[in-house]
Amino acid sequence: MGGLLQAAEAPRILTQDPMERDLHVHTFFSPCAEPTMSLSAILEAAAAAGVAEVGLTDHPHRPGLARHHRTLDRAREIQRGPVHVWIGAELEVVGFRQLALPVTELPDVDYVLAAASHYDVVNAPPVPHLEDPVEWADRLMTDLENAVESGAHAIAHPFYAYALLCPPSGFRIAPLDDILAEIRRPRVDRWLETVAAAGMALEISPRLCVHLGLESFVEETYRKARELGIRFSTGSDAHRPGMVGVLGQAEYLMRRLGVTERDLWSPTLACRARRVS
Ligand SMILES: [Zn+2]
Ligand SMILES: [Zn+2]
Repeated sequence: MGGLLQAAEAPRILTQDPMERDLHVHTFFSPCAEPTMSLSAILEAAAAAGVAEVGLTDHPHRPGLARHHRTLDRAREIQRGPVHVWIGAELEVVGFRQLALPVTELPDVDYVLAAASHYDVVNAPPVPHLEDPVEWADRLMTDLENAVESGAHAIAHPFYAYALLCPPSGFRIAPLDDILAEIRRPRVDRWLETVAAAGMALEISPRLCVHLGLESFVEETYRKARELGIRFSTGSDAHRPGMVGVLGQAEYLMRRLGVTERDLWSPTLACRARRVS
């Protein structure tokens, strides 16, 4: 966990080139977000951070997400200002090409992020033996594979799992470095090819840089993804106003990858696809 410790102690780096699109922001509808995350607070924070487009991507962790979207849709019309508002959702992958909520049940959504690694270790252990890195490696890859053609447009924070970085006390969990070492590159490459064929984007998130091993694994993977023409969506995964528009260390990851505007995904691509179909 040395990497995690180092990330926690590192000073917060201010972005010099503000993230133009923050496509991963939680409102107060998500139980994990601060109650202060109202649309007006998010818009204020986005404007202060120099963000031009903000995407609201709540979890379906309580009923009524479609109703919440309808309210947001009306509110964004009323509060129309310099920051463009997209309505999105972050939906867990629950099976082969299957999300926690079918996208068709969210009529006001502009785009969907698939979350492939929100693991509940306590109530629903994702692998039979939590200390076994091989089982975890297979589980991480299986969920990423299942996210392809699920109806989602992008995959949120691939390979990042909170449960692996901050295990609940009393649980012995395989170290993330051991798990990543068990993930075979040919399997990752095959997965990337399916992501490219499906036209899905991969997310660049500060979460990918909280652990050094994870960051370098993702960097290698994203380098290959870029070669395959896969686009990247940018998202802070903000749960409080101060996080909106902040990419932190992930901005350096973007720079090292040489990501340009052409490599970035935008929800306009999802909207265009819907008009065509
Ligand atoms: Zn997430
Ligand atoms: Zn999130």
